[in-house]
Amino acid sequence: MLLSLIVPCYNEQEALPLFYREVTGVLEQMRCDYELLLINDGSSDRTLSIMKELAASDPHVYYFSFSRNFGKESAMYAGFCNARGDYIAVMDADLQDPPSLLPEMVKILESGEYDSVATRRADRAGEPPVRSWFARAFYRLINRISDADIVDGARDFRLMTREMKDAILSMAEYNRFSKGIFGWVGFKTYWLPFENKERVAGKTKWSFWKLFKYAVDGIINFSNAPLDIASWFGILMTLVSFLFLIIIVVRRLIWGDPVAGWASTICVIIFIGGLQLFCLGIIGQYLAKTYMETKRRPHYIISDTNAQHAKKIR
Ligand code: UDP
Ligand code: MG
Repeated sequence: MLLSLIVPCYNEQEALPLFYREVTGVLEQMRCDYELLLINDGSSDRTLSIMKELAASDPHVYYFSFSRNFGKESAMYAGFCNARGDYIAVMDADLQDPPSLLPEMVKILESGEYDSVATRRADRAGEPPVRSWFARAFYRLINRISDADIVDGARDFRLMTREMKDAILSMAEYNRFSKGIFGWVGFKTYWLPFENKERVAGKTKWSFWKLFKYAVDGIINFSNAPLDIASWFGILMTLVSFLFLIIIVVRRLIWGDPVAGWASTICVIIFIGGLQLFCLGIIGQYLAKTYMETKRRPHYIISDTNAQHAKKIR
């Protein structure tokens, strides 16, 4: 049994050596064959040279270095494309995903009952309350409006069989939202909760704004509900305006037409104008995504690697 570990790294010079030491410790004890796929996502620090040092001294290590920063989603995709294992795992380089869980995860897959073992944080302790609130609201919303099963607090850390990896690779969409993709492909998943950990070194690459945009991406990628809302707004406004029309005509016939109501007219115009721009914006979001998909640009470009079998552009 060959185990592939995919590790996206972006400016992880402090964390990577610590991660490597801990993960190899665990893997050596498991006595299974393994490969470590380190994806350098256009880091500007010493991450790549650390990878090269590790690869020089350890034949299990393969590094794949992107030509620029493509984002974690692309890094995971590159890992999936190049993983040859029977079981494949994705984990962060900052030790927030504890390698000590790996033996248990492998055992669960080997029992043959499940196709994947996913992890979720047991609670949201240590997180700013505003962020927790937005996160919860996001998960409630997206589960209501999309048919992908997206679990609150799920991490990207998961172990899966090759069948599931192939299914994930078959979803070659350009705008990738892995939490949704993992849920969408289905398969039997075992959920393993664990205590949330602080990253060992370095700092997070996610600002609140970046997370917010990621959440909006997730909604647009896995649901057409915003488009439906735009249509419903349109229908509602048409009905309301028709009602108003009748009221105004009747009033004119019965009471004549006193010239008044400038303020209310302006309010209505501004309100409807705003609503129209809002709905246009929603359509624009989907159009922009469609535009990017139709260009069929590669997800990533590898400019440097030590793997002979590497798929350099995909
Ligand atoms: N990462 C990446 N490309 C990016 C941003 C992040 O490959 O553009 C990697 C990063 O090196 C880490 C993982 O994705 O291994 C998770 O990032 P981070 O720890 O910053 O996110 P958090 O755990 O705070 O959500
Ligand atoms: Mg982290």
